[in-house]
Amino acid sequence: MLCPCGSSALFTNCCQPFICKNPPAKQVTTAEQLMRSRFSAYAVKNGQYIYDTYAAAQQVNNSLTDIQSWAEECIWIALVIHNVVNDITENTVEFTAYYIVDNTLCELREKSNFAREQGQWRYIDGKIKLHNELSTINRNEICPCNDYPTAWSAKKGKKFKHCCGK
Ligand SMILES: [Zn+2]
Ligand SMILES: [Zn+2]
Repeated sequence: MLCPCGSSALFTNCCQPFICKNPPAKQVTTAEQLMRSRFSAYAVKNGQYIYDTYAAAQQVNNSLTDIQSWAEECIWIALVIHNVVNDITENTVEFTAYYIVDNTLCELREKSNFAREQGQWRYIDGKIKLHNELSTINRNEICPCNDYPTAWSAKKGKKFKHCCGK
């Protein structure tokens, strides 16, 4: 399985070791890696990792139950990274996530803020730049993942119901 983050590496060689804490000492080393692994965690519906990688001050505002149900409600199609800034004043990653919820293809473009807490990268918050519904997906139409080069599916021109909608 390809990594959901769109790196074109295998999941086992990319985000999975962080998400599954296997090996346990393996930590992300950049804000971008954390961003990518959080998207992958949504894609594989691992709410615990998403919760755990919020900055401590944000964890009180985000329940694991809410994160888990949002991850499960959506089909996470593709991630596109637009810009990464790492300097003294900011650690940000701007990205667009494409997902399907209630048969609607959506795009969410966000500029996310990251910081290190006790030596580990954490997600603080994000500014939403765009949040659009792109189209309604019929189960018999060609799966929209085929339109996204970074989609982690096989992109074999199958119908949605036989591809990401399975
Ligand atoms: Zn990855
Ligand atoms: Zn698909």
